[in-house]
Amino acid sequence: MGDPKAFITIPRQEAGYRPLHDRIRDYGEVEQTLNSNERRKQASRCMDCGVPFCHWACPLGNKQSEWQDLLYKGKWEAAYRVLEQTCDFPEFTGRICPALCEKSCVVRLSCGDAVTIRENEAAIIEVAWREGYIRPLSIRRNGKKVAVIGSGPAGLAVANRLNRKGYEVTVIEKHEAAGGLLRYGIPNFKLLKAVIDRRITLMEQEGIRFRYSTAIPLKDRIERGKDGKFIFPTLKDAEGFDAVCLCTGAETPRDLPIEGRELKGIHFALDMLAQQNRVLAGIAFPKEQLVNAKGKRVLVIGGGDTGSDCIGTSIRQGATFVTQIEIMPQPPVGENPATPWPMYPQILKTTSSHEEGCTRRWSLTSNRFIGKNGKVCGVEVEEVEWLPSADGSRPVMKPTGRKEIIEADMVLLAMGFLRPEPMELPEGVFMAGDVASGASLVVRAMAGGRQVAEEMDRWMTQKTRIRD
Ligand SMILES: Cc1cc2nc3c(=O)[nH]c(=O)nc-3n(C[C@H](O)[C@H](O)[C@H](O)COP(=O)(O)OP(=O)(O)OC[C@H]3O[C@@H](n4cnc5c(N)ncnc54)[C@H](O)[C@@H]3O)c2cc1C
Ligand code: SF4
Repeated sequence: MGDPKAFITIPRQEAGYRPLHDRIRDYGEVEQTLNSNERRKQASRCMDCGVPFCHWACPLGNKQSEWQDLLYKGKWEAAYRVLEQTCDFPEFTGRICPALCEKSCVVRLSCGDAVTIRENEAAIIEVAWREGYIRPLSIRRNGKKVAVIGSGPAGLAVANRLNRKGYEVTVIEKHEAAGGLLRYGIPNFKLLKAVIDRRITLMEQEGIRFRYSTAIPLKDRIERGKDGKFIFPTLKDAEGFDAVCLCTGAETPRDLPIEGRELKGIHFALDMLAQQNRVLAGIAFPKEQLVNAKGKRVLVIGGGDTGSDCIGTSIRQGATFVTQIEIMPQPPVGENPATPWPMYPQILKTTSSHEEGCTRRWSLTSNRFIGKNGKVCGVEVEEVEWLPSADGSRPVMKPTGRKEIIEADMVLLAMGFLRPEPMELPEGVFMAGDVASGASLVVRAMAGGRQVAEEMDRWMTQKTRIRD
């Protein structure tokens, strides 16, 4: 710990977002960066506490206090070497992690303003790329092959871990490029896709094979060949794999099957978000297939992060007005006694997209979509109250009869994703990420991927020992 008083003398400084009038004109990343001196000052605020709750809160178990100290001392490469021990892709988490660690930071408890751990992480990894600390490793192979189905953060973490242990890894992805929701969900203004490409190139240089536009029909079972290895009959070459990991995400969005659902202009959030990211990647769509908010009054149903991404995207596309509604009550501002430190606080979150201009409302349920000439033109909503349940479980919703119509030419459904149905997995087939846990976070998908890669390695090593 370089400066024992810095947490008192140096205030938290976030790099902040690009000016609003500038950022809403493009899809470039909204977050800015501090210069390296300011960044080191921010790292000095870490108290290197005896019990680092940030470490406890991070699903990856990142060793934040160790790399903060090295960063403060200007030892950027050493800081990177500590960071890479626990995190495969800090350029993703450094940009889009909700920073579970910061909510548990002891400085937050004592001074109210946590260390800027996430931004510090992003700064370390960007210097590592820029200064060439990250170079492709040459890996000694162990003769075993692994297939990873799905190239989201979970699949990429499994692939990276096992490849570095010597397995020959093939990642099979149904879309035309790697990244899962990093590429076809999260908007460019939060995560530029060149950041994913840079990592995939490194993984390819280290020997991982990516097969795109190849969907593996999981319902048809994963078969074994005569030699006991796993094969996929739909793949032309009959390659056998010693183990398989399913990292196929949670893909089914929650629907809103109320009157008028068939009207034109009602879309799932990902229909818009994935298409916008593809458009930015240079893919053209016929005009009639475009999900575009230009000149429209947009209503986003769902108050979470996906809804917030719809707001930022609608604004950039040129929506005239954006409203976001949420069925749950407005969370408290600042602190919530129900979720004290070091828990993740259930409080009002205002994102860069919210700041860009939208009306936010809470405790509203949607009763019916209203249409004109087959197109949506509004939604009847009703205020609800949430009453404590008799058994102390989830509160009970009570409609109040207070109804109104919110006018909208485009409705985006951002109400989360259904938990994938549990699958019975044959021995040698593993599962990681959202497909195993239900829709969650990038950092959790990566942590799950790392853990499952360890299990796969143990299983394959044990199997070899028994055979020998
Ligand atoms: C709009 C949106 C914004 C988000 N923003 C954030 C954020 O800011 N921060 C955060 O931490 N989390 C965020 N999340 C959540 C996060 O993106 C996910 O939790 C994470 O991507 C899950 O990783 P995964 O690898 O399990 O699945 P996914 O990322 O969903 O990847 C699954 C992959 O499997 C492929 N696949 C599926 N079936 C098959 C098949 N049969 N054959 C071959 N390939 C297949 C899919 O094409 C996909 O590429 C967001 C989610 C959404 C929807
Ligand atoms: S991955 Fe997320 S929780 Fe972990 S140290 Fe980074 S920002 Fe914090």
